[in-house]
Amino acid sequence: MKSNKQRRAELRLEREHKKTKQELRRQLSMPPYVLSGGALPVNRAALQPMCCWPGWGERGFYQDLAFTCKDCGAQCVWAAKRQKWWYEVMKAHPDTTAVRCAPCRAKERARKASEREKAQGSALPASKNNSGVKYK
Ligand SMILES: [Zn+2]
Repeated sequence: MKSNKQRRAELRLEREHKKTKQELRRQLSMPPYVLSGGALPVNRAALQPMCCWPGWGERGFYQDLAFTCKDCGAQCVWAAKRQKWWYEVMKAHPDTTAVRCAPCRAKERARKASEREKAQGSALPASKNNSGVKYK
């Protein structure tokens, strides 16, 4: 025959065990981005309309993405929050993805800017000539 004290201890253990199981179930039923640290939920309403979603859109969350820079071959990580910004704030097409590391991206930006400048520079004298023409 068990004493009241023993029974109470057993009941308490059982209750604690149940609580742990409930907590575990609660965590498992949550979307994976809540469990893993770096992931962010996708706000589909903020995205460009799309007929079929790429993997992350289907999944419903952004996750830090490892990729290789196509210019210098460096191993890079495209952070989840940068992806969210890229697709939802910059409204980039959901099919686009990161291809260059930060330094190469800056170089590419500078190259494009100087090309634009060159194109504008050669266009300027022509427009000046045009404005210089007087009809009388
Ligand atoms: Zn690079």
